Amino acid sequence: MLGVSLGCVSLLRLDQAGGLAPGNKSFKLRDYFTHAARSGARRLVSFGGAWSNHLHALAALGKQYGIDTVGIVRGGETNTATLADAAAWGMRIHRVSRTEYRQRNDIAYQRALSEQFAPCLLIPEGGASLIGARGCADIGVIVQRLAPQATKIVVPVGTGTTLAGLVSALDSGCEVIGIAALKGALDLEQRVEDVLLQLAADTGARWSVRHDFHGGGFARAPSALREFLLAFEAVQGVELDPVYTGKMLFAIHQMVKTGEWDSETPVLAIHTGGLQGRRGYPWLEQGRHVC
Ligand SMILES: *Cc1c(COP(=O)(O)O)cnc(C)c1O
Repeated sequence: MLGVSLGCVSLLRLDQAGGLAPGNKSFKLRDYFTHAARSGARRLVSFGGAWSNHLHALAALGKQYGIDTVGIVRGGETNTATLADAAAWGMRIHRVSRTEYRQRNDIAYQRALSEQFAPCLLIPEGGASLIGARGCADIGVIVQRLAPQATKIVVPVGTGTTLAGLVSALDSGCEVIGIAALKGALDLEQRVEDVLLQLAADTGARWSVRHDFHGGGFARAPSALREFLLAFEAVQGVELDPVYTGKMLFAIHQMVKTGEWDSETPVLAIHTGGLQGRRGYPWLEQGRHVC
């Protein structure tokens, strides 16, 4: 694998499962639909940017389960293929200013939204919650079923919800390494700890988060990452997204290249999906024809 050497990496292809909501997001969101049905909520409301994988998946699942969805979308961004899909699946797109969006975690703001869209259930941005993490524990169950021999597992990290769920379902013989997609997510470890405590997962796997592979910040794709991603796709025939899975595999590539990781140690990398977001990167779509 000239140029994309990775050592001994297997991929768990969550991107190939889940229909219109592939990847990790359907795991995070699933239990919200059961909660909504149980509590009499008729719609699910959540937050995201114009290329949000989270809102995209929420809209797809809303259509699938026949429940209304509302996307509170951060303003200043133009119409995107992501929001067009979401709207086509019936999501009501509610644009707000950046200032208003910043209030998304304020109780008073959430109360106002809850009244505006009642009867509804609010989902935190990115599905970051105990409910979301509990759904992601099923990813760990899948890992154990499909790759029982895996002990070193790598996953991309945004809010850390997927990591927490995964860790909670694996035993202490496993080590999970998260690759942070955001720059300066300094309270990430604390948030994961909190969720693990709430999940009462005291027998979970060992885990850590790497903060040195964000490539300059969320959704940034420096040229080294672009080159790696295009080369990987050309050689492996597996599509990645630049925001999460591309950074994860680039991180593995870097750590093997520098000798920090032994290239002989088997690694299971979780492909968490996110491919719909590729449409936001013209160089990616063009690159395909060049290679
Ligand atoms: C949302 C997302 C993640 C991050 O999941 P968290 O639970 O927020 O850490 C990783 N990969 C992809 C493709 C995503 O869409």
